[in-house]
Amino acid sequence: MSSAEGSEPYALACRQLRETIDRLGLDGDFYNRLRAPVRALEVALPIRMDSGEVKTFRGWRVQHCLARGPAKGGLRYHPEVTLDEVKALSMWMTWKTAVVNVPFGGAKGGVACDPKEMSRDELERLTRRYTSAVLPILGPETDIPAPDVNTNEQVMAWIMDTYSANKGYTVPSVVTGKPIQLGGSRGRREATARGCLFAVLETLGILGISIDSCTVAVVGFGNVGYWAARLLGEAGAKIVAVADSKGGIYNPAGLDVEAVARTKRETSTVAEYPDGERLPSDAVYEVDCDILVPAALGGQINSRNASRIKARIIAEGANGPTTREADEILGDAGTFVIPDILANAGGVTVSYFEWVQGLQAYFWSEQEVNAKLKTHMGAAFHEVYALAEREKVDIRTAAYMLAVTRVAEALELRGLFP
Ligand code: GLU
Repeated sequence: MSSAEGSEPYALACRQLRETIDRLGLDGDFYNRLRAPVRALEVALPIRMDSGEVKTFRGWRVQHCLARGPAKGGLRYHPEVTLDEVKALSMWMTWKTAVVNVPFGGAKGGVACDPKEMSRDELERLTRRYTSAVLPILGPETDIPAPDVNTNEQVMAWIMDTYSANKGYTVPSVVTGKPIQLGGSRGRREATARGCLFAVLETLGILGISIDSCTVAVVGFGNVGYWAARLLGEAGAKIVAVADSKGGIYNPAGLDVEAVARTKRETSTVAEYPDGERLPSDAVYEVDCDILVPAALGGQINSRNASRIKARIIAEGANGPTTREADEILGDAGTFVIPDILANAGGVTVSYFEWVQGLQAYFWSEQEVNAKLKTHMGAAFHEVYALAEREKVDIRTAAYMLAVTRVAEALELRGLFP
C-alpha cells in the first residue's frame, strides 16, 4: 500500500482513534485498549511453486477488537501488504462493523504475494497453507474471513474446505463471500458497491441532486469498482471514466461498462477499451465528474492531487483511500466525502446476513437481501449524518464518533477481566 504523506496506515488509524476519543471526552484508557490489536498472528507459508521451487511467503491475521462480537474482516493478497497495513485495516473493520451496527469486531488478513504472477494451483496451495497456519484463531464464532483485494469466492471456498477438512465436518460459516452453491448469500458479490450506491443516493437526496444528472469516475476495477460503475450506471448516472492499476479510460459522452469489463477480461486492463481517451490511472481521480469512487488501494488521494479533484461527492469504496492532508483540502473545498467505514460497509453488512443465513441454514431471496441492506445502510447513513449536523463536524468525524462510542460502550458494559 502506498503510504503517502510519510505516515504508515497504522499511525493514521491510531491518530484517528486518539482524536475521536479526545473529541468524545472519553477516558484515555480507551485509547490504550483500542490502539493495539487483541491478537496478531504472523505466519510463514512455504509453498511448492509449479516450477518445483519452494517459496516462503509471509502472512498475517490480525484481530483488532472482539468487544461487540466475533472478529470479522477480509483477506488480501498483495505484494506490498505489511503487518502495519493489516493492523490498520483490522482497526477500520472494528469501526465499520460498529457504524452499521452488525454484531462483530474487526479483523483483517494479508499475504504478501503477487497473485497476478501465480497459477491457480499455486494460489490454492497458498490459501490452504495460510488457512492451516491461522486455523487456531479462525472459526464461525471467533474470526470469519471474507474477500478483499485480490481474493474472491474461490479463495473463500478453499478456506472453508481446508477448515472443514481439519474439523472433520463442513463449517460453511467460517467464511463469508463464498460461492452461493456452498452457502454464500445472494447479493454478496455486489454488496459493497450496492451499499456505496445507497450511500450516494442518500447524499444526493440531501444535496437535492438527481442521479440522472450525475457523471461518475471510478478508480479500481476489481469487484468493488466494477460493480460500483455498473450499479451507478443502472441507477441513471453517466460513467465517464474508469481505471485499473494498468491505466484508465475517459469518455465524457459515457462508457459502456459491460463492454469495458469485456475489454478487461480479454486484455487484462480497461485502458485497452477503444472508445475513449486513454489516461494514466492517477489522472482519473482528476477528471471532470460529479461523483468519484476510489475503489483501489489506500493513500491514493493525497496532498499532491486533492486540490485538483473536481468531484462534488467522493464515495470511498476502498479502505483508507484519503490521507489526512487530503481530507483537509477536500473539506475546505466543500467536497462531500462519504468515508470508507460507511461508504463500503455494504460488504460486511451482507457478510453478516450470510453468516446469519448460514447459522440458521435458511436462505433469503436476493430481493430480501437487498432490501435489508438498504434499510441497514440508510439507518447508518442517517445516524452519522444527524450526528455530523448536531456536532458540526464532517461525515468522517461523525462516523468515527458513532463507531468508537458503540465500541467503548461495549467495553464498559463487559468490564475488565479479571
Ligand atoms: N473486505 C471487505 C471490507 O473491507 C469485507 C469484509 C467482510 O465482509 O468481512 O469491508
